Amino acid sequence: MMMSPAHADAVARARGLVSSARRVVVLTGAGISTDSGIPDFRGPQGVWTRNPEAERLSTLQAYLADGDVRRQAWQARLASPAWSATPNAGHRALVDLERGGNLDVLVTQNIDGLHQLAGNDPARVVEIHGTMREIVCMSCGDRGPAGPTLDRVRNGEEDPACLRCGGILKSATISFGQSLVEADLERAEEAARHCDLLLAAGTSLGVYPAAGLVPLAVAHGAALIVANAEPTPFDRIADAVVRDPLSQALPAMVGGDTAASPPPSGTSGPAPPS
Ligand code: NAD
Repeated sequence: MMMSPAHADAVARARGLVSSARRVVVLTGAGISTDSGIPDFRGPQGVWTRNPEAERLSTLQAYLADGDVRRQAWQARLASPAWSATPNAGHRALVDLERGGNLDVLVTQNIDGLHQLAGNDPARVVEIHGTMREIVCMSCGDRGPAGPTLDRVRNGEEDPACLRCGGILKSATISFGQSLVEADLERAEEAARHCDLLLAAGTSLGVYPAAGLVPLAVAHGAALIVANAEPTPFDRIADAVVRDPLSQALPAMVGGDTAASPPPSGTSGPAPPS
């Protein structure tokens, strides 16, 4: 798909910012994975936009108090398109960015694990809202891969209990009403304070404390790119706002795909992946 001149300008400006930055922090949200077939929550086709009731499944208090909510949540986990999803060109562009040597930390609000599947170094990825690929006991903290528990659900256990203590099991994600892992938040904030560019991609920037990384980075002198299909509360302080689908926009910004938009003269992208 061709970009309009205004869009190509925004991409070119973002590309210039990326190529001149030395220490980049990327904050991704559900929008980077929609082109892999995983719906976001708040976009026009989002899970909550279409069914506001679904938000309850992600609320810790309701999950702990109500067996019905847990049964629905287990069925929703089983049916998640994320299990068969593969990374798209947007995820791969962030691997290019890392290989170019300028990616400091990739903070993702996503729970799908696609950044690591694409090839980003897990040591650079902070999953600030946890991961759906593991299950944790809310009583004893026992934690393990999701597969065996999902098999129990497939085999008829509607609300499987912890095999160690009988407690309530949940995917190792951060639900509404649940605290973030302190060390993850500290690492993300430390990175935001020291980066020279923050690239927010595919996030409505409405969920705190993750969204707070944006004003934090800007207050410490970082440039800001917002790449998101819809407006965000931080567009007005951004140095570039890119609206194009991320699977096109990120390769064009990072250097993997120059077809959509030529780089501004005098700039070059990081090295392509080997
Ligand atoms: P969000 O649903 O609030 O916002 C996503 C934004 O991405 C929207 O503004 C939408 O317009 C934009 N978008 C969608 N597709 C796009 C595309 N192809 N190109 C450009 N922009 C696009 O998502 P959020 O800010 O991440 O917050 C929702 C919470 O839901 C997160 O905390 C996350 O944990 C969770 N979540 C995760 C996944 C996942 O892991 N893939 C999916 C849904 C929700």
